[in-house]
Amino acid sequence: MKTLFSHVDILINDPKNSVIQNGYLGVDDDKICYIGREKPADPYDFTKTLDNCLIVPGFYNLHTHTPMSILRGLGSHLPLDQWLEQVIFPIEAVMEQPDYSVGSRLAMMEMLAGGVVGFSDMYHHPEYYVGDVLRSGMKANLCEPIMFINGDMLKKHAEKIAHSVGFFQTYHGESNGRLRIDFAIHAEYTSTEETVRGYGQKCLEHGARMHLHMSETRKEHDACKARYGVTPAAWFDRLGVFENPTNAAHCVMVEENDMKIMHEKGVTAVHNPSSNLKLGSGIMPIRSMMDHGVRVTIGTDSSASNNNQNLLEEMHLTALIHCGVQRDPTVLSPVEVIRFATRDGAAAQGRENCGSLAVGNQADFAVIDLDKPHLQPILDYPSLITYSAQASDVAMTVVDGKILYDHGEFLTIDADRVRHDLKACLKRRF
Ligand SMILES: [Zn+2]
Repeated sequence: MKTLFSHVDILINDPKNSVIQNGYLGVDDDKICYIGREKPADPYDFTKTLDNCLIVPGFYNLHTHTPMSILRGLGSHLPLDQWLEQVIFPIEAVMEQPDYSVGSRLAMMEMLAGGVVGFSDMYHHPEYYVGDVLRSGMKANLCEPIMFINGDMLKKHAEKIAHSVGFFQTYHGESNGRLRIDFAIHAEYTSTEETVRGYGQKCLEHGARMHLHMSETRKEHDACKARYGVTPAAWFDRLGVFENPTNAAHCVMVEENDMKIMHEKGVTAVHNPSSNLKLGSGIMPIRSMMDHGVRVTIGTDSSASNNNQNLLEEMHLTALIHCGVQRDPTVLSPVEVIRFATRDGAAAQGRENCGSLAVGNQADFAVIDLDKPHLQPILDYPSLITYSAQASDVAMTVVDGKILYDHGEFLTIDADRVRHDLKACLKRRF
């Protein structure tokens, strides 16, 4: 099936983020088959006219925990360790399959309504909601993280590792590769050397990607140094984890040598500004990372610590805070921020031909309604997206050529059902 999106501005994700005005974007099945100013000569099955709209490459949310949407905002104003131990872990201990499922669906609705086409999720029991993710039509990297705080760590880790590997073997590459399965280590402080070494080796054997939390807080970072004499990045590297393509969330406390390791081993940093600010953790040294050649991407983290799944808001914050903190408006440009959220995000999920609008690439994009007072006049498109656009300006989200969200309607997720299931979940849990 071929669909032509017509009379629309198109932000090409080339190095300059150049724009085609009042142009045409053709989609053949799941791929982009035409981009241009002139109407294509060949026939299309459907034409969608998008006056006063801008097509942008779809956004990638590189770090979230979707089921935690049911815990939105719980335990605000507590430091990370107390927040986890006193508020989050006790509820997680009693969560059941329907809770995971509705939380994940709610997060996916929020992401789709904000132009997100792909996300990297880390949470227990991904088998509880993998069906929801597949049905949503979104691109996702799921994983079963290795994590234990108390008790017989090694025995529990062995069970988790078997489960994590089994999950990879069952689901990796499902739905023409829309679903990918990563390996995941929750963090240094919830692991042991023995587990991490063995699990990292297993990841290598399976040719998978690794997802982990790293140096999120000063306390975590310093405790690792006290325990092992090295930073979390050096510890993971020493244990062979970084032989795998790795995405490290947070990286707030990373040091000079950590950045050298990350560059050398190709570790991607996932910036989560809202979560780090809200939990008082600090701010990732993004410019320094970039200067060291480290790839940077953007994530929301969970709705329990953010408290939403609004990637445009994270892009806005990313563009603002580093310039402010460093008292230098040249620290980061809107073009760079858009690249983090699109091309670099897709690449860090291990996806080819995704994250930019080009003929032959997967047809993943968001349509922004420009007919809003805060989006006029349009003098600089990258600035408009980074500094002015709101998630609520997204009119349509398309993944692999399929419209998943269209002017307030979710075409693959039953919104009424989510409302109903959420009520039942809240009754059970609170
Ligand atoms: Zn996280």
